Amino acid sequence: MKEIYLIRICGKCKKTNILINEEVEDTIKKGYYISCSHCGSKRIFKENETSDLRKCMDNNVYKRVKGKIRQVHSI
Ligand SMILES: [Zn+2]
Repeated sequence: MKEIYLIRICGKCKKTNILINEEVEDTIKKGYYISCSHCGSKRIFKENETSDLRKCMDNNVYKRVKGKIRQVHSI
């Protein structure tokens, strides 16, 4: 089964973007690209996929974006 969330790290500003896997696929299918929500860079790399963000609690990605998860989700 496919994971729900896609965690990507920007190659330019190194900030984390948490995206919905399904939506990313849809966006790419429609010919658009995914860019960083912080600086707009297209150099954004896949870091991880997960269905439960709580599982990331111990890793750096979660810690770095902890306060911003809600904000990221509403994009
Ligand atoms: Zn960026």
